[in-house]
Amino acid sequence: MTATPDAPIPDAPTPDVSQPWQWDEQTWRGHVARVRAGRSLRPESWPGGARAAVALSFDSDHETIPLRDGETRPGKLSQGEYGARVGAPRVLRLLERHGIPASFFIPAVSALLHPGEVRDYVAAGHEVAMHGWIHERNMLLSPADERELAFRAADTLEKLSGTRPVGIRTPSWDFSDHTLAITRELGLSYDSSLMADDEPYELLADGEPTGVVEIPVEWIRDDAPYLMMDRYAALRPYTPPRQVAGIWRDEFDAAYAEGGLFQLTLHPHIIGHRSRMAALAELLDHIAAHQGVWYATHAQVAEHVWKHAR
Ligand SMILES: [Zn+2]
Repeated sequence: MTATPDAPIPDAPTPDVSQPWQWDEQTWRGHVARVRAGRSLRPESWPGGARAAVALSFDSDHETIPLRDGETRPGKLSQGEYGARVGAPRVLRLLERHGIPASFFIPAVSALLHPGEVRDYVAAGHEVAMHGWIHERNMLLSPADERELAFRAADTLEKLSGTRPVGIRTPSWDFSDHTLAITRELGLSYDSSLMADDEPYELLADGEPTGVVEIPVEWIRDDAPYLMMDRYAALRPYTPPRQVAGIWRDEFDAAYAEGGLFQLTLHPHIIGHRSRMAALAELLDHIAAHQGVWYATHAQVAEHVWKHAR
């Protein structure tokens, strides 16, 4: 039996316009343009005529990573607790020894669990900045939920630290289609979750400048990918701590040679262990042996590059 041209074909596939290879040019250009790197904010010079800038950051997630996943059993939570009980104080002592400021991105739930730690950050002159409510995955949330949690987190950090945060690092660097709009509505001056450059840049939203500074991150300059492990998955640390610090040393050396920014993302519950702190201390000694390094919080970097872009 042959079908006549006019007969309906019952099983004809409906065109699926969500398939990327079926997108028209406007569609794929639109996705790329939604949040994009604009002009470079690499400054003419760093404060005090410094040759390069160093911005260290610590994401004080502590118990919020297992909590975010609904993992409420004591075993997993104790790994996070280590970050607050041992890691963060150790990090603070190391920073104090070097006399350098850092930025602490802390989920609001973590800050509520450890309010004394937030006070310690502030007392030592460090920056306290946003890192979600409970380390939620923004890309899984509705825009309304993401917005509500972000505002609640900002209010909570303001209450606990005494200052309204000016910057955000999205938990897990999960940046949704709505994150930039929420960041702007919060009036934040910078984000530190995206990866389009080594140097700071201005974020564009659908091609338009936003006035929001991006202080870019990278998994290369993060302790988690090298040092985390999961008992029931294949995830195992595969690089010894001093080798990890060697990668960061190369990143710093190149930033120094280029007169740029060296930015690092660490976690008290990961880097805070003895053998790893030894590697971090070695890295900080290496940096300290260089003349003309400006150590700054992410907020200070954002403020400086915004005023002094080339
Ligand atoms: Zn985090």
